Amino acid sequence: MKKIFLLFLVSFAFIHIQAQDKSPKKMPRIIILATGGTIAGSGESETKAAYTAGKVPIDDLLNAVPQIHNYGKITGEQIAQIGSQDMNITTWLKLANRINQIFKDNLADAIVVTHGTDTQEETAYFLDLTVQYEKPVVLVGAMRPSTAMSQDGNRNLLDAVMVAADPKSQDKGVIVSMNERIFDSRDVTKTSTTNLGTFQSRNFGPIGLIYDGKVSYYYKSLRDPAKKFDVSKLTSLPQVEIVYGYADASPLTVTCLANSPIKGIVYAGMGNGNFNAPVGKALEEAVKKGIVVCRSNRAGSGRITLENEVDDAALGFIVADDLSPQKARILLMLSLSETSDKSKIQTNFFEY
Ligand code: GLU
Repeated sequence: MKKIFLLFLVSFAFIHIQAQDKSPKKMPRIIILATGGTIAGSGESETKAAYTAGKVPIDDLLNAVPQIHNYGKITGEQIAQIGSQDMNITTWLKLANRINQIFKDNLADAIVVTHGTDTQEETAYFLDLTVQYEKPVVLVGAMRPSTAMSQDGNRNLLDAVMVAADPKSQDKGVIVSMNERIFDSRDVTKTSTTNLGTFQSRNFGPIGLIYDGKVSYYYKSLRDPAKKFDVSKLTSLPQVEIVYGYADASPLTVTCLANSPIKGIVYAGMGNGNFNAPVGKALEEAVKKGIVVCRSNRAGSGRITLENEVDDAALGFIVADDLSPQKARILLMLSLSETSDKSKIQTNFFEY
């Protein structure tokens, strides 16, 4: 009798411990910051392609995917409600400062940012350079609006929450979770206007995969995660514009910019960041006026190598390494907010 009682007591304690392990207190606290985009888009019907981005509020998005509550204590905040073609530096600063504040006040263990896909890669890289904490920040979006047949937003949101909740997502920097893949923010880019598998990392591939509720990582960026910019006191960034290179381009765009008050030009050059003679001359003039000129490429992948076909030292140019023009612009703006020393800025492109 005594033995049976003891057995009952041990079983009861075991069940109690198991139940405690599953208690919601142990779940990670995840805040979802919503900014708009197709994931919050609403269309006329299930089959029509036309829709308006940034219509569905955060609470409706969360209610549409109740399964997310199995992976964390979820709360939502609406930061913006825009199509991401309207994303801007003011909203980037607001987002970065809010995320830093949330982690500083220990209000969350991870953050998911819902975002339009057009500029998702830019916001991800901006946050990667400005969020001061190692905790997971996961950007997610959708290619089909929430009202469409076979919409991808609900699944993508659930996957992003799983990624955010997974302890393996610590120390990966800011990442993008889309279409069952996880991407490093530095390399990811939108490659198709409408395809569901639009996001790719052309240089190095996805760093991880999500399938059937399981998050698996395969690679991690070796760029120094401690290299960050402090934007807490900034209300704007030095202006940097992008100029596209092509056969027989005239120097007009560069000359106009060189006569404006901008601080930097990212030149999206042909091949290894090349330009024709008239554009090269105009870029050289821009450098003489104190504008930082950074050569990048329009090819969509690969590095720009210093002193290859172009005498960068003589012309005073810097190179973007393997960053796309739109990401090189972000790193150049942030670098210029701290220094105008070109050799320091060049080092940033090889280290950040
Ligand atoms: N252009 C809109 C945006 O970037 C919709 C595209 C999308 O989210 O997929 O927010």
